[in-house]
Amino acid sequence: MLLDRLRKIVQDVDSAPNFTAALDTMVTSVRETMGTEVCSVYLLDDKTNRYLLMSTEGLNPESVGTVSLAWNEGLVGLCGAREEPINLDNASAHPKYHYLPETGEEKYNSFLGAPIMHRRKVLGVLVVQQRDNRKFDEAEEAFLVTLSAQLSGVVAHAKAIGTLEVSRTAPRSNVTRIFTGIAGSTGIVIGRAVVMYPPADIDSVPDRIAEDVDAEIGLLEQAVASVRQEISDLNEKMVNTLMPEERALFDVYLRMLDDNALPSEIIEHITAGNWAQGALREVIEEHMQTFSVMDDPYLRERMADVRDLGLRILAHLQKQEGSGLRDFPDKSILVGEDITTAMLVETPLDKIAGIVTVTGAANSHMAIVARALGLPTVVGVGDLPVTQLDDTEMIVDAYQGRVYVQPSRLLRTRYKEIIKEERQLIAGLDAYKNLPTETPDGHRIALYVNTGLMVDVARGKDRGAEGVGLYRTEIPFMLRERFPGEEEQRAIYRQQLEAFSPAPVTMRTLDIGGDKDLPYFPIKEDNPALGWRGIRITLDHPEIFMVQIRAMLKAAIGLDNLQVMLPMISSVFEIEEALHLIHRAVMEVQEEEGVPIVMPRVGVMVEVPATVFQIADMAQLVDFVSVGSNDLTQYMLAVDRNNARVADIYTPYHPAVLRALQIVVDEVHRMGKPAGICGEMAGDPATAVLLMAMGFDSLSMSASNLLRVRKVLRTVPYAQAQSLLAQVMQVDNAAVIRSLVEFELDDLGLMDLVRPKNKG
Ligand code: PEP
Ligand code: MG
Repeated sequence: MLLDRLRKIVQDVDSAPNFTAALDTMVTSVRETMGTEVCSVYLLDDKTNRYLLMSTEGLNPESVGTVSLAWNEGLVGLCGAREEPINLDNASAHPKYHYLPETGEEKYNSFLGAPIMHRRKVLGVLVVQQRDNRKFDEAEEAFLVTLSAQLSGVVAHAKAIGTLEVSRTAPRSNVTRIFTGIAGSTGIVIGRAVVMYPPADIDSVPDRIAEDVDAEIGLLEQAVASVRQEISDLNEKMVNTLMPEERALFDVYLRMLDDNALPSEIIEHITAGNWAQGALREVIEEHMQTFSVMDDPYLRERMADVRDLGLRILAHLQKQEGSGLRDFPDKSILVGEDITTAMLVETPLDKIAGIVTVTGAANSHMAIVARALGLPTVVGVGDLPVTQLDDTEMIVDAYQGRVYVQPSRLLRTRYKEIIKEERQLIAGLDAYKNLPTETPDGHRIALYVNTGLMVDVARGKDRGAEGVGLYRTEIPFMLRERFPGEEEQRAIYRQQLEAFSPAPVTMRTLDIGGDKDLPYFPIKEDNPALGWRGIRITLDHPEIFMVQIRAMLKAAIGLDNLQVMLPMISSVFEIEEALHLIHRAVMEVQEEEGVPIVMPRVGVMVEVPATVFQIADMAQLVDFVSVGSNDLTQYMLAVDRNNARVADIYTPYHPAVLRALQIVVDEVHRMGKPAGICGEMAGDPATAVLLMAMGFDSLSMSASNLLRVRKVLRTVPYAQAQSLLAQVMQVDNAAVIRSLVEFELDDLGLMDLVRPKNKG
């Protein structure tokens, strides 16, 4: 019962036309549901650090928007400072009680307040008050806490999109709006947003100005006519299957499609300036809101029908639009709820300058590809109002993980200067292209490039990579509509091997599953990170594995610079099985081709924590070991590498991760084998210093980072890196370790290579 009420209040709040109305709806419903005399919301204004009364039911309405309390004042301040509910039967007797005469609250004796918290920050306090001297019971307290947790998302969102200046005045529309996310691929860019959305997803259709209103109306009418036809055909088809009353639904649909019904509403929105798809989304949203506040279950059912019709019309509109017609201006910034690697690589990459997404985290697969392409990327921008952003100007500051929408002239000028400085810095790195990676005191380390697309090969070579440390073979697989055949694969692999010959090219066997899906081989699991992925899939499908290995072996004929690497290994048995298959493939290819085929060097990836503790047994079986620190960090810390909510606890500076890495290097060396690392921490100049000090023989990274890392490693003496590492290994806190390393780099004048000092 209470749960129903709770759901209803949340729905009402969600469907309110604006933020102020949402708060007003909330206080009214809470007062009614809890049977109290007062319900109020106080929100903390960041600028003044005071709680402002934003909405009330029961206190003097005149005091709304004017009465405020200092952050530590009164019971509201206490509730916020303690970050916990305060439940009192005799409020005025409490030492913190602060009487606000304007509100007329003196009549109320009992007080229950719950802080409104978002990401550990207090945004405000939700309060109920009552005349009787009585303590609110446990259920009431739980109810208020639950509601305030739900309200926090609404408040945080309103704040982020700028509809909430903590005051009751309407927002100005041309101010710069700032959104915060996580840096996925560093850099800064100024450009225009192009909203990307999966087809047939009505909620993510963006608003776009209708260039030609009549043409948009024409498109809508055609789409509606097609849907009418579709429904009549369905009706016909079902004549013998459904009873007439069951088929009555089709009449309801046709009535909704009548010229005077949905279509005329959509045309109204088109005439107001939105394109047909955007106008359709607006109308469907309006209907959803109207229906959702209805208590009648029958009417709520109709919601599904309207939505279904909306999707049908959208499908026809999108069919008319075609897929290749999308216009990408120069310096397009791709913006979307979620942009997959496949969506990204299908765009005209020469027009793309940056990426911003609502979901995702720094080491999600798309972010890695964006890094390889050198595209500044901010992910995990939870509050981004995607549908409002099409064609707006924005600055993406992927060093700070910030996005500025409609930036002011001042901000634009400032960022243009920073971009210029960045360019000069990068131009200054050219000198490092042909130099060995050797510290001032003579320690050598190899820098390899991570590849996937052909463009990585060109960029890697250009920047003086000494080989390929990780070729992600799943990327060419993603660009196709089916598994590529043996000959097709051979040709692709040959390009990689030839480009770097005689330097080694490390090809990882197909690593799909987890967050890396092939469109034609979907895997649906509750917990994909712990599921069927990497070597687990390819050992279950030896036919896929064998085709790939054979293609690699054939591609390497005459070059002999192939290294094969096995991903997601968790046991010795998997290595033995894979080696057995590779041996078999060598024999087969030798027989077929009639030329001697050498057994390639085979390596194992350290990504699963279990391998850290069995690394000596494993190293014995293979020729080299390479740490996949992205997954190793994810599994050691039990933090999903794609989840924006826990992104701040995903850090390779965690002491446990650093200790694991040191164990791996020492043990692999004890077994007389080389140890490399190819996760993203190898390409961060700051962590690269630690990795070198640990003794890694090679670091493999995206081409974009190669010269920065080389410059840093040629500047920091090995002995100094080692004493820094020794110091770091004594520290038990990731944030402190990070500061220590950055402080050292700053001292050597190298911090600009990690991130520009001069932030906007
Ligand atoms: C890793 O896990 O560190 C790695 C290099 O593999 P991927 O990022 O492709 O999972
Ligand atoms: Mg991995």
